Amino acid sequence: MRSSTKLDLQYAHRFYGFKGEAQYLHGHTGILTIEVEDSVNEGVNMVFPCNEIQKTAWSLLKNFDHALILREDDPMLPAILKVYEETNLINGTPQNQMKGEAFKNELATAYPDCRLVVTKETMTVEGMIKIVYSLLKDKLNIAKITFTSGVNIASADFTTNNNIDRCPLCGIALNKNGVCPKCGYSH
Ligand SMILES: [Zn+2]
Ligand SMILES: [Zn+2]
Repeated sequence: MRSSTKLDLQYAHRFYGFKGEAQYLHGHTGILTIEVEDSVNEGVNMVFPCNEIQKTAWSLLKNFDHALILREDDPMLPAILKVYEETNLINGTPQNQMKGEAFKNELATAYPDCRLVVTKETMTVEGMIKIVYSLLKDKLNIAKITFTSGVNIASADFTTNNNIDRCPLCGIALNKNGVCPKCGYSH
């Protein structure tokens, strides 16, 4: 069975080199749905607590919210960095508090201090699904990701076979030592 969660991401981007309106900088509210598949955990009668899927996803995906997302070869990137540097935004401000955990992988690098994500590929709805899967595939048993942005919708199905041991009392993943980080249950 599946448990799923939904989250909103407001971001600005553009499709560098694309012959259409999307080559201009513009913004969206994107809606991301993540479906997690596993057996029903008998103790709590759920696959995985939805708020925990959201918490796990949000800790990294917060980087895409109120952020600028540009491809690594986009000439707008050095121009933006120059302005952020000249106006002292590059290393963050005391008001920039809703920051995600910095990450870097083969598809994207997040710079939470200046609310910027640099991507290898154009950040289309399809591109976003690839990035989200690459960031979360080892943490969640993701069966499907859907990303909606304006009139664009993409989805992809995955087979993830992480063996995630879950707490029979609160449903969340046990840590490496088999202990629940929330309630302390151990088996
Ligand atoms: Zn767009
Ligand atoms: Zn627990």
